[in-house]
Amino acid sequence: RNARIVTEVKTAGYITEIKIDGAAVSLTYEQGRLTTGATRGNGVIGEAITANLRTIADVPLALTGDGWPAVMEVRGEVYMPYEAFKRVNADRERDGDPIYANPRNAAAGALRQLDPSITRRRRLRMFAFAVEAVEGHVSAKTHADLLDLLGRWGFQVESHRRRFGTLADAQATIPELETLIPQLPFQADGVVIKVNQIALHAELGVVGGREPRWALARKFAPEVAVTRLNDILINVGRTGALNPYAVLEPVEISGVTVRAATLHNEDLIAQKDIRIGDWVEVIRAGEVIPQVVRPLVDRRDGGEREFRMPARCPACDTAVERIADEAMRYCPNASCTGRILESVVHFASRDALDIRGLGYERARQLLDTRTIVDVADLYTLTIAQLTALERFAEQSAGQLVAAIDESRRRPLSSLLFGLGIRHVGKTVALLLSRRFGSMESLMGADLDTINTIPGVGGAIAEAVVAFFHETRNRALVRRLQDAGVSMVEPRTTAAGGTLAGKTYVLTGTLPTLSRSQAGELIEQAGGHLAGSVSKRTDAVVAGADAGGKLEKARALGVEVIDEAELLRRLRPAS
Ligand SMILES: [Zn+2]
Repeated sequence: RNARIVTEVKTAGYITEIKIDGAAVSLTYEQGRLTTGATRGNGVIGEAITANLRTIADVPLALTGDGWPAVMEVRGEVYMPYEAFKRVNADRERDGDPIYANPRNAAAGALRQLDPSITRRRRLRMFAFAVEAVEGHVSAKTHADLLDLLGRWGFQVESHRRRFGTLADAQATIPELETLIPQLPFQADGVVIKVNQIALHAELGVVGGREPRWALARKFAPEVAVTRLNDILINVGRTGALNPYAVLEPVEISGVTVRAATLHNEDLIAQKDIRIGDWVEVIRAGEVIPQVVRPLVDRRDGGEREFRMPARCPACDTAVERIADEAMRYCPNASCTGRILESVVHFASRDALDIRGLGYERARQLLDTRTIVDVADLYTLTIAQLTALERFAEQSAGQLVAAIDESRRRPLSSLLFGLGIRHVGKTVALLLSRRFGSMESLMGADLDTINTIPGVGGAIAEAVVAFFHETRNRALVRRLQDAGVSMVEPRTTAAGGTLAGKTYVLTGTLPTLSRSQAGELIEQAGGHLAGSVSKRTDAVVAGADAGGKLEKARALGVEVIDEAELLRRLRPAS
């Protein structure tokens, strides 16, 4: 039997394929139409995931061409291209949400959304690579033919596949593919060599219930390089966080020249005993930011220096703060030049003051030309001042001034979020604004008072008090007030709140809100929070790993919403 298999394998040869690092999915087609989709591995199936998969451009809802089995399962890998990944993370950073570590996590996160319109905005893609006929049969005799068929039916198939006569030839191409992978627009983590003859797949079988014998996967270890760490510098982020990074002697890692690597925080630098002047190992995997793995202690010559975080901000010379229990140090000065660009862009972002037309490019131009020094200066800008700048037409100047004027009327919660106080994301801003009603009463509140608000305890309360303790921050707020920026939150009393008289139930883990934050927000808006689902429940807010309550809601026909929809309903009509 083995001798025959060997001969047949030789006839059709082998196929090499790029191994995409995404989320494995399977799609069921009946009579050429998509009926259900599921994620593999964790086996999540159901309406929500099917609805999300339908938003992906590479998932055909109806197949083109002909010759497909009456019922079949198509396997594919859903992935997020690097470009979309960068955009999603930039948005999350702006919103104060935790960023995704890699495109695979981002793709899996996008598939788990309860609102398909969010999944659609994440711009996922999919490569199809296998078919299993449930009813009928697939005409392709070889894996290469099958991939061609998938392409004709309307699927996207990865284009770097190649056929080889012998396994040795297939394996010999791996170094070439290793240099190709870093240049791809998506994350790939290796190569799979497959036996081309499909009929042999069943015969060769599966080992241990998982790895098929006819496919040989080779995962690339992320490439490590050794170079000199020339210096450790500090980048000041929007919230004032001082982020140390390594300035490296330029080194090539998987086809890319790396000059800097993240060092996260001073504790990690001390823990790894990384010193300035050290030879270090640097790792880079796909789009993930290069990281310093460890110093090569053997290569030290005594000239290395230990790193000390500066006591004063490298951008504005204000004394930096280190909060208890936190690894980061912060510059507390809201007018810090290092923070200012990021903060202007954040201030103008959609969930803050929503000033359309004020992105990075414009903000940088206004700051570089000293047209503005901080966000309060925006409110005195004139059309004449703007048209005097390069690349500013009369019309766009007029639009920007109008957008800035419009932003004066945003609620206090938008302004609080826009100020970029550390730990104060959209939710905390809303909780604070609802509780205090005005900037004046929030600024007058002490730590104990802020600490009593569910979902705003501990480090958050400390950060809020510290922010308003800083003289320059108080001055900035005063100037905004003088410029006519609204300092109040529209009254949403329990009786007249946006959820007045409604009963809500929470289940599962929400993407950003904690249980107590969500509950507080619902109650502040006049809603009632119940522990179990009944016919009298108005809506169930479901997050990840929602269980029995979600099933019960579906059975009773109770509306199920996600966190984003809850936040929309909490927003006061303006
Ligand atoms: Zn500073």
